[in-house]
Amino acid sequence: MLEDKNQNKTSLAELGEFGLINHITKYFKVSKPSTIKGVGDDAAVLDASEKQTLVTTDLLIEGVHFDLSYMPLKHLGYKSVMVNLSDVYAMNAEAEQITVSIAVSNRFPLEAIEELYAGIQLACDTYKVDLIGGDTTSSTKGILISVTAIGKAKAENVVYRNGAKPTDLVVVTGDLGAAYLGLQVLEREKEVFKVNPQNQPDLDAYTYLIERQLKPEARKDIPALLKDLDVKPTSMIDISDGLSSELFHICTQSKVGCKIYEDKLPLDPQVITTCEEFELDSTMIALSGGEDYELLFTISIDDFDKVKGNPNLTVIGHITEESQGLQLITRANQEIELQAQGWNSLKNIIV
Ligand code: ADP
Ligand code: MG
Repeated sequence: MLEDKNQNKTSLAELGEFGLINHITKYFKVSKPSTIKGVGDDAAVLDASEKQTLVTTDLLIEGVHFDLSYMPLKHLGYKSVMVNLSDVYAMNAEAEQITVSIAVSNRFPLEAIEELYAGIQLACDTYKVDLIGGDTTSSTKGILISVTAIGKAKAENVVYRNGAKPTDLVVVTGDLGAAYLGLQVLEREKEVFKVNPQNQPDLDAYTYLIERQLKPEARKDIPALLKDLDVKPTSMIDISDGLSSELFHICTQSKVGCKIYEDKLPLDPQVITTCEEFELDSTMIALSGGEDYELLFTISIDDFDKVKGNPNLTVIGHITEESQGLQLITRANQEIELQAQGWNSLKNIIV
């Protein structure tokens, strides 16, 4: 069946490794002053300035991290860059370059790889980063993508996970839980499609959720906003595995506790209506749903006036002594201990 679908497509074997590398990289232009040499030699060359260099990598595997039955390859390319840029912004740094390594089976024609790279290129253009290299190899089954991002920041501006102090305020950007619900909607439609392929799903009520799952945006604007507001967070992390899990990372590394207020958690209206429809608790989804790629950070209480009322930022609680643990204060004013649940474990609970 796959062979039929690819009848008029260009096989990767025909093109060869070097032909493929040349084909996928030729439309990328480098523009960062720090990129001395990009693709084309044995190694890329970067200019080391007086700033510090940040390096981060993520590996995405078909069937584990994404499902091509509802993830278009262009979106996959875009998202694989976003998850890496998000890690750079979470250090309060600027992203400048990426490398992209892929392993593909011969089930994929050249046109599929072109789609993937169209997404990577859109991400590079939108976020102003240079593609400077990578590696290309074959896999026996499926597709695998590894992206490395390189960023830069002045030493005094880098924000780590371990600087939160009691009385600091806990802040999140954007809203929470939508990407996880988007995945639930897509999984449900996939099951419906299996039973009735003629069925055309009406996804109008879920557009925001699906967009958050398939086309997440990294918060490049936040390091810039914090600079404008003259706020340096005391700790910061990006929300890839769910708010609870990231709070645990910050609190463990900073040796503190926290109090988070249920009624402060920022939720999009589509999250609320879809939780009702799926009979899910929206607080649980906000705490444990993953892949939002928002930023979670702590600031000194003295900086409260600088962030107050900013539409991008929500204060959801404060840092406490380590002995107090991680507490959720419910709408009924009850204290509940937070669980360090990532979205993978959540997936197993929801039927
Ligand atoms: P080497 O044999 O030294 O590993 P390659 O032939 O694999 O070199 O790569 C040639 C050039 O193309 C290098 O600059 C490499 O970084 C770049 N490159 C290879 N694969 C990719 C890819 N998938 N995406 C972007 N650049 C790539
Ligand atoms: Mg190579």
